[in-house]
Amino acid sequence: MDPLKALADAERKPYWLDSPARPEPQPRLFGHTTADLVVVGGGFTGLWTALMAKERDPSLDVVLLEGRRIGWAATGRNGGFCMATLTHGLANGLERWPEEIDRLERMGVENLDEIERTLERHGIDCSFERTGELHVATEDWQLDGLNEHLDLISDLGLDYVPLDQEQVRAEVNSPTYLGGLWERSGCAMLDPARLAWGLREACLRLGVRVHERTPVRSLTDDGTTITLRTPYGAVGARHVALGTGVFPPLLRRLKHFVVPVYDYALMTEPLTGAQLDAVGWRNRQGVGDSGNQFHYYRLTDDNRILWGGYDAVYYNGGLVKPEYDQRDETFVKLARHFYDTFPQLDGVRFTHRWGGVIDTCSRFSAFYGQAHGGRLVYAAGYTGMGVGATRFGANVMLDLLSGKPTDRTELRMVKEKPMPFPPEPVRSGVIQFTRWSIAQADQHQGRRNLWLRALDRMGLGFDS
Ligand SMILES: Cc1cc2nc3c(=O)[nH]c(=O)nc-3n(C[C@H](O)[C@H](O)[C@H](O)COP(=O)(O)OP(=O)(O)OC[C@H]3O[C@@H](n4cnc5c(N)ncnc54)[C@H](O)[C@@H]3O)c2cc1C
Repeated sequence: MDPLKALADAERKPYWLDSPARPEPQPRLFGHTTADLVVVGGGFTGLWTALMAKERDPSLDVVLLEGRRIGWAATGRNGGFCMATLTHGLANGLERWPEEIDRLERMGVENLDEIERTLERHGIDCSFERTGELHVATEDWQLDGLNEHLDLISDLGLDYVPLDQEQVRAEVNSPTYLGGLWERSGCAMLDPARLAWGLREACLRLGVRVHERTPVRSLTDDGTTITLRTPYGAVGARHVALGTGVFPPLLRRLKHFVVPVYDYALMTEPLTGAQLDAVGWRNRQGVGDSGNQFHYYRLTDDNRILWGGYDAVYYNGGLVKPEYDQRDETFVKLARHFYDTFPQLDGVRFTHRWGGVIDTCSRFSAFYGQAHGGRLVYAAGYTGMGVGATRFGANVMLDLLSGKPTDRTELRMVKEKPMPFPPEPVRSGVIQFTRWSIAQADQHQGRRNLWLRALDRMGLGFDS
């Protein structure tokens, strides 16, 4: 089907947020107040932090300040792949923290188990389905990559099933698949907006004071109290946790470590029974292909297909702007790739198209830290894999605020920071050249040029 025609009626907004279940915003903050802990940011990082702070100590007075609406940013726009990995995949974790990888993998699975238990405990219905993820190869060189991956994971005893061409197509029927690897328990599919709204409700029930449409404009510290000023008020608190993603940071140092990268997605109309039969997909796994520029796709609870990824766009200057949420060139490309992958779905149309901004850091997995004498903490840099890992990041922040070392705070991954990005305009030049090199590698059987090999040696890179 002509991609332009297939996209003609697609709404220009995130599918998940375009829902009657979206709650009315909580009131703005008016006037001056105090709290034990102020959490800034109403995405997953902030919501998990506020919720778990109350679960750890119900007597704590917690305020959450969100500049716009709960979950409006990356949190309400993502693919809904809730992964166990805390390290942006096993290979990245093994390369950076080989001596910790067993612990990191175990903690990641425990984190995902805990997410599942939290949903039950608080009655959060976000269509959580622990289907796992199917990694598929669509080129010979990608098969080699999957085989290498298999060698690594068999040493660690993880639950992966290798699939040959026939087996992978029996799972999800695409003529482009050459083989695959099914990571069975390390990933769940969910509706991210309903998760965010459910976490908000749970926070409110436990007594967190949530203020939406309340951007924090400045932060000052008199040595005991940190004061956060908002347009119509202020909060003074002993402790502050920042879950502000890639937005202009309240702590200057963060701007060296994260860059805004835009990722785009489409949603189809619900498939008919016959269309679903034509693709199989009875185990409903999330799927990711194995190029450097990769697609991710999955079924929703009403059997639409979310189809996203491939282009990861950095706009020169590194700004976050609402107009970047739409990129027609990318939507057309994504639609074309969709029909290449599923020719039997020719005629299926798209109902939504959107983009969102990712907080990319040079090591791809989140980093954590403290400032203001340990009374302010932060977690950022999830680089496109934060649906599950943000809960771990929230726990790290609460551990750091407690002042007592824990298994989490003792990790090298937690103690170390990523390499900072160079300042602009060098930053734009370096990132665009790296993006170009990555696209070239995909077109040349995965062969990495001198630049990418040099970055690999330094443990640096660009990803989404
Ligand atoms: C298109 C797309 C697809 C993705 N797919 C996946 C996926 O399938 N799986 C996965 O694991 N990850 C995925 N991600 C990444 C994932 O969504 C993020 O890692 C995660 O949502 C990060 O949550 P966060 O709370 O840290 O940040 P955000 O969701 O960005 O929230 C930060 C919040 O802080 C608020 N804020 C910032 N500054 C202030 C201030 N000064 N005052 C008050 N509030 C402030 C913002 O308004 C915002 O609401 C995807 C991301 C995108 C964009």
